[in-house]
Parts: sequence; C-alpha cells; structure tokens
Amino acid sequence: MTHIGIPSSLFYYVYFPMWKVFFEELKNVKVVTSGETTREILDKGVSEALADACVPVKVFFGHVLTLRNKVDYLFIPRIVCLNRKTVYCPKFLGLPDMIRYGLSDMPPIIDVRIDTRKMRSAVYRAFNTVGQILQAKKQNILRAYLKARLAQFKFKRLLRRGWQPPEAMAAVLNGRKSNLPADPPGQLRFAVVGYPYIIHDRYISVDVINKLRRMGVSVVTSDNPPPLALRMQRYDCGKILFWTFSDRTLRAAHYFAKQGKVDGIIHLTAFGCGPDSIVDRFIQYNSSSHHIPFMSLSIDEHSGEAGVSTRLEAFVDMVRRKKGEKMNA
Ligand code: SF4
Repeated sequence: MTHIGIPSSLFYYVYFPMWKVFFEELKNVKVVTSGETTREILDKGVSEALADACVPVKVFFGHVLTLRNKVDYLFIPRIVCLNRKTVYCPKFLGLPDMIRYGLSDMPPIIDVRIDTRKMRSAVYRAFNTVGQILQAKKQNILRAYLKARLAQFKFKRLLRRGWQPPEAMAAVLNGRKSNLPADPPGQLRFAVVGYPYIIHDRYISVDVINKLRRMGVSVVTSDNPPPLALRMQRYDCGKILFWTFSDRTLRAAHYFAKQGKVDGIIHLTAFGCGPDSIVDRFIQYNSSSHHIPFMSLSIDEHSGEAGVSTRLEAFVDMVRRKKGEKMNA
C-alpha cells in the first residue's frame, strides 16, 4: 500500500474531494491528511518557515511536518493557472521548492505542474503523470480521473447551494445526503470573504463562521456564489488582479454588495499577505459605496479568541442596531 500525504491546508479547501477520490481509485493507494490545524501544527510551521512568509504558508509548513514520517509521497502540485486568465500567488508556485529545500528528511514530493494557459488538457495530463508515477495502468488512471471530476462537481454543487467547504467535503466523501445545514434563527446575514484556506481553517480563522452562527447570523462566503456569476462580476480597479484567489475574493465581495442581500461584509485577511493589502481597500470602498457595513479582520499567528470575539460582537451589535433603526424609521 502506498501512502500519499495531502496537507490539510491551502489548496486542500478547494480540491481535496477530487484529489482524494483520484488517489483512492488507483489500486493500493491510501490518502493520509494532516487533520485540522492545531496550536502545535502552527508552532511547527512558524519555527520552520521563512520569517516573512504569510500565515497560511507557515501553517502549510506545519501540516507538511506533521506528515513527514507517515507517508511515502507528499502531493504538492505546482498549480499555476486553471482558468486561462489569472495565476496563483507566487507563494503557491514556489510551494514544492520551499518544502523540498526548506525542510529536511522529506519524502519524495509529487509536484506536477498545471498551467491551462499552455494546454487545455493540462489538468488531465497532470493526473496522468501522477498515475504513472504510482505505476497505475492507463485505463485505471482514466477511470479514477473521471470519478474524481464527478466528486469535484458534486462538491461545487453543494457550495453553490450554500454549504461551506468542510461540510460539503464531508457530505461528498462520506456519502451523506445533501441537505443544506439549517441557518440559525435570526435576521442578520453576513458575507465572509477572503481566501478559503483562511476562512475555513477553524484554527487560524478563530472559527469565525461558527462564532457568527452562534450569534444568530447566517453566513455566506466567497465559496458560495455561482461560478458563472463570479466570472461575469466586474470590479473597478482598471484591470483584473493577476492572482486567482485575490481576483475571486474581490469579485465575491462585489457580487454580494451588488446583490444587496447581506447586512454586512467581513474580510478575513492574512497578516503578511501582499495581495490582501490591495484587495482589502477595494472591498472597503465598494462596501461603503453600497452602504453595507464592512469590517476587516486581520489574522496572524497570535490572533486570540477573545480579541476576535469582541470585535465580532461589536460589529454584529452595530449592524443589528442599524438595521433595527432602519426598520423603525
Ligand atoms: S495570496 Fe496572500 S495569503 Fe495567500 S499564499 Fe499568497 S501571500 Fe499568502
């Protein structure tokens, strides 16, 4: 049995269902993940990653270290571009090298490059290469790839229906019936926008989504708008942002503001993230031009439960009061 390690961080929140199904459809392959982020994982990452790396990259290092002695291969694809327009942040492009040269005693890394700008079939070719590395037969690779795409399709369909990635992943991979989780009773609805590996990592986001739900706020995130609507959504900054996740975050924030169905927008931003310094400002300007309350919450390795809760409570109270005043006017 070959054990493939997939760190539960960064691309994990976007492509894990597809990757897991693909690997496990190949014979004698088992996927091992590093589990949810913990204080120990974060501390390991902080001590080994470059000091000026952003928090998500430090967390990624911690997840890789957790898998180091447990797997035969680490799967860290070099995903450059998947939509033929924008590219992933340079930190993503350099991930396999950062891990290979930054950490010692690593298992071999499967780091296939995927760039659909050069070839439309780049995704299938990458999976084919991975299958060949694992010595799978051609027809097994093709079957595994088709099943993997189907799993990813189901995952995305649940996101469009309002599920969040961790819940949708559990539903797709554990075969549970797809029912939308019930919203908490309450009038407020917030959009939480940002990178999926921050919003949905319960440890580094200090569990913002569930905190809001417990305060009676229903939550939609950048992962929920229909992909076509997002592609059509425009924003005013002269040209589109180069980086895929930044572009997507900005489009999602504009989409929610334009729809006018949210009472507030919260941008979760990572300390040490270059692109976020631009994205945050644009979201703020756009929210204020639509008269939607906005809060930016910067997450770093020292973010504390109490500080985040206090800010969220204050924001929720402010929005609730404002909405009450509007209704009584
Ligand atoms: S987009 Fe920002 S947070 Fe994400 S990997 Fe790049 S620098 Fe880090």
